[in-house]
Amino acid sequence: MRATDVIVVGAGPAGAAAAHTLARAGADVLVLERAHFPRDKSCGDGVTAHAVDLLADMGVTFDDFTGRGVKTLGGVIGGPSGGRFRADPPPSPDGKPMECWVVPRVVLDARVAQSAVDAGARLAEGCRVSGLVRDKDIVIEYTDGGGAQRVAAKIVIGADGAHSAVARALRVGENGKRHRGFAIRGYYDDVEGLKDDLEIYYYDKRILPGYGWIFPAGVRRANVGIGIYTGELDRSPRKLRQILDDFIASGPSVAQRMRNARPVGRPIGWPLPVSTAHRRTVFDGAMLCGDAASLIDPLTGEGIYTALVSGRSAARAALRALASGETSADALRGHEREWVSIAGGYLTSGRILKNLVKSATLMNLIVRRAAESPYYASRAIGYGLGTLDRRRALTSIVLKAIFNPSFFIRRSLAKA
Ligand SMILES: Cc1cc2nc3c(=O)[nH]c(=O)nc-3n(C[C@H](O)[C@H](O)[C@H](O)COP(=O)(O)OP(=O)(O)OC[C@H]3O[C@@H](n4cnc5c(N)ncnc54)[C@H](O)[C@@H]3O)c2cc1C
Repeated sequence: MRATDVIVVGAGPAGAAAAHTLARAGADVLVLERAHFPRDKSCGDGVTAHAVDLLADMGVTFDDFTGRGVKTLGGVIGGPSGGRFRADPPPSPDGKPMECWVVPRVVLDARVAQSAVDAGARLAEGCRVSGLVRDKDIVIEYTDGGGAQRVAAKIVIGADGAHSAVARALRVGENGKRHRGFAIRGYYDDVEGLKDDLEIYYYDKRILPGYGWIFPAGVRRANVGIGIYTGELDRSPRKLRQILDDFIASGPSVAQRMRNARPVGRPIGWPLPVSTAHRRTVFDGAMLCGDAASLIDPLTGEGIYTALVSGRSAARAALRALASGETSADALRGHEREWVSIAGGYLTSGRILKNLVKSATLMNLIVRRAAESPYYASRAIGYGLGTLDRRRALTSIVLKAIFNPSFFIRRSLAKA
């Protein structure tokens, strides 16, 4: 049987980030990937500023995507009553331009996986992992074109997404309904009024804290989708696809712009395992990251950023464990400590806000206030687009609101 230091299962953003970090440090790393690149992944394709930064560190230059992706400058948020506001996020403290991009995952993921290969990782495509057996090392079972195969490793990193076979083998159960969402997206041509903005609409009260989005994906082409928690979906008489069609047909300021739109292919849905599940991410000789670790932001459904953060932290923990020769869960605990210290505050504030966004009244108030105040508008957009430190953004908004009580009162009343 072949043997290697580290096996990474899955070459999405989490697996590619892990493999890149390991290979760059000189470790022997094999990535087993079920698909063949370029492969699609159901996604809004929104790569926010903090994810762009991490990908740049992997040698992914976003300007190379010009023509196949769109650089976005600002954002639009709409509330249940139909009100909306637009703003650019605040500039970064060091004056560095904050870039977000929309890059179809069929393009982005192939490039990101290639960066891991360029760093020295071995990528085996068309390999579907089915199980994990503990021997002296860990033995991974998979099938490829040649049938059933086995390969041994000192450490395994499970980065195989929402239906993770590695998580199953480690006896991590499926998330309960409260910690799981679903999202569906389609590409549409001839969408009117597209600008360089990520547009998010909380128009449909019945799916809050879920929302619909329109992200520019090319000249008159948009990635349009909706995301919803499983509880709300189960309670709804409508199926996921119907909710998307309703958003397109009747969303204020959406319906008119979509009236001549033509679907490109079929909309595709996929689960959203959110971080409130608090999944275990460290095991003897194994770690989970990205969607396999249920690290999606409970507020926005963003998962590329946490996939990258946790892929890197798993790789760093693996490197330390390989150096010490100790691969127990305790020796790998640094993975959890690192992703929590980098993304824990972001995910916690997402959980708090997700609960607030359930209220249509509060959502309308937030949109109304932001529409009146460039300060709140740019912070709300910066919060959503990962251009602001969330903890700081939330604190500054709350403090301003406390010391400026008119925030809670209609402007007309405040003036009276
Ligand atoms: C409709 C929708 C819209 C979204 N929009 C956004 C957005 O705009 N921005 C954002 O940041 N996030 C978004 N997300 C979330 C984001 O897509 C995920 O969080 C992100 O892809 C997680 O990356 P990952 O590497 O953990 O998993 P994945 O990207 O799912 O990659 C997992 C990889 O593992 C492989 N794999 C799976 N099973 C096996 C197996 N058994 N053996 C071997 N390989 C296997 C897969 O082929 C895949 O390549 C959205 C999600 C959905 C569903």
